[in-house]
Amino acid sequence: MNEVKTPKKPLLYYYGIVLLVLILFNAIAMPYLAQRQITEVDYGSFIKMTESKKIGQVEITDNQILFTNKDGTKIYKTGLMNDPDMTQRLYESGAKFSSKIYEEMSPLLSILLSWILPLVIIVSIGQFMSKKLRDKAGGGSSAMMFGMGKSSAKVYIKSSDGISFSDVAGEDEAKESLSEIVDYLHDPGKYEQIGAAMPKGILLVGPPGTGKTLLAKAVAGEANVPFFSISGSEFVEMFVGMGASKVRDLFRQAKDKAPCIIFIDEIDAIGKKRDGHIGGNDEREQTLNQLLTEMDGFEENTGVIILAATNRPESLDAALTRPGRFDRRVPVELPDLHGREEILKVHARKVKTEESTDFEKIARMASGASGAELANIVNEAALRAVRNGSEKVTQADFEESIEVVIAGYQKKNAILTEQEKWTVAYHETGHALVAALQSHSAPVQKITIIPRTSGALGYTMQVEEGNHYLMTKEEIENKIATYTGGRAAEEIIFGTCSTGASNDIEQATKLARAMITRYGMSQSFDMTALETVNNQYLGGDTSLVCSSETQTEIDRQVMAIIKEQHEKALSILEENRRKLDQLAHYLYEKETITGEEFMKILSESES
Ligand code: ADP
Ligand code: MG
Ligand code: ZN
Repeated sequence: MNEVKTPKKPLLYYYGIVLLVLILFNAIAMPYLAQRQITEVDYGSFIKMTESKKIGQVEITDNQILFTNKDGTKIYKTGLMNDPDMTQRLYESGAKFSSKIYEEMSPLLSILLSWILPLVIIVSIGQFMSKKLRDKAGGGSSAMMFGMGKSSAKVYIKSSDGISFSDVAGEDEAKESLSEIVDYLHDPGKYEQIGAAMPKGILLVGPPGTGKTLLAKAVAGEANVPFFSISGSEFVEMFVGMGASKVRDLFRQAKDKAPCIIFIDEIDAIGKKRDGHIGGNDEREQTLNQLLTEMDGFEENTGVIILAATNRPESLDAALTRPGRFDRRVPVELPDLHGREEILKVHARKVKTEESTDFEKIARMASGASGAELANIVNEAALRAVRNGSEKVTQADFEESIEVVIAGYQKKNAILTEQEKWTVAYHETGHALVAALQSHSAPVQKITIIPRTSGALGYTMQVEEGNHYLMTKEEIENKIATYTGGRAAEEIIFGTCSTGASNDIEQATKLARAMITRYGMSQSFDMTALETVNNQYLGGDTSLVCSSETQTEIDRQVMAIIKEQHEKALSILEENRRKLDQLAHYLYEKETITGEEFMKILSESES
């Protein structure tokens, strides 16, 4: 923390408090302290001392008599008595009447006690407190001691977190876009010279776990400037108006510290579309309005750059995403094959691995996994290695951990009956065989019939060769056929069907529906959009935008597609019945077979 400025307003408060405490101390504590040096005596002793002329000074107050001995080294006190001659006797004894016995007693000590000591105590407490506050708040005014309306942004500076771009694998486009920002912050002059303006705001969008937060932290690590990090939800407060004042405070701090970066994570918490709903979330709207105002409130090239991340970009208010506010959108997508391999390698740096580890193969197997899942896979593999008592993480550990992350742990004590086990073996072989025998389908990587904690009794892991950006109609149809392959095998072999195909049915239906409603792959609807995707990055649920007659027609066509593919799968398996038996028996024996073994048996039997 490089906070140096001392806030002005609180200083005034501080002096006020010091003065108040001093006065109170003198009024209450001083007499008490002083009294401790006074010896209380009874009235008899007082009379005796008077008579023997041992009294130096005397002070008579409303309720007591204070007096000293002849040389003034001791103070005594006694209560008042109804004694009219007392004054006369005292006078005769040669005592001096005084009104300020303490002060005369030890002026230096009393000043020390009543003014200097409390001052020293208060100043040191004050110093300590303000230091603590500063450390905690990372700047800002300590006037708002109770944190109300105060931004709770964390401030990072370089090396505090130690994350740099090299910790983020893949995502090259996102990194490129962000390194421009870093470059600008290092040397704004270069850009101003040409007249280029840095975007004020950059929005990182992408599915969960793809490294958006990580990228922002890497920017903080790379750019040698203060980095304010706050989560959108932190603005949403219990009290109306507090969120807005937090936004104000955040931007005030940021402008003080420019050049700097503000990072608002999960911005959808405050940036949701404002809708006309009565009794909507007033607080959130105020906060959003404040954010919009603040973003307009500073000029280009002031050196404040706002990063934000969200996985629901479509729900953001249009005012927020327009140019001039978040003018740049950086997609952070699920990694491709190469990206997955790089991410695995980055995380594998932290664990001991065998030199022969084939990360490409692992990446291939983990198709569709996000960065967070890949990090998890590496960690699961390391845990498995420890469990097995080995020194290094092996290839097998990685491969098993993919299944753990995708399908859950092996269920140790799940006991399948013979019949069930056969059913699962044929079902999975059915999927694999249909996939392998259709020219366009990806070959299988692995088939297993070991039950998993996720509830899957077995599964077929298909591997995409290379990257797919487009899918043709035929490829989608083949995929549907593959989904129906499991059930088809059961029907051929056992003449009945089981509940094991529920997930296949769901997937197949989803694909078939999308073909008609979103991809325009049906004859009758041509290129009409019949469904819209609600949130692209979070499951991608859809809503229908068509009349009920059309819906009926969609349903009919979906059924037709699935039925056609199911029949195709049935005929493929019937034609290859011998291979189906052979492979299912092999799988039943081994419980897990790899893609190579599978392909070997498949080609053997053909000869
Ligand atoms: P989100 O996009 O949801 O904000 P995070 O940035 O929080 O995701 O990522 C979670 C974790 O996943 C990170 O801490 C990191 O360990 C891992 N991770 C995600 N993407 C990557 C990546 N591209 N490179 C390396 N690790 C990654
Ligand atoms: Mg995040
Ligand atoms: Zn299945």
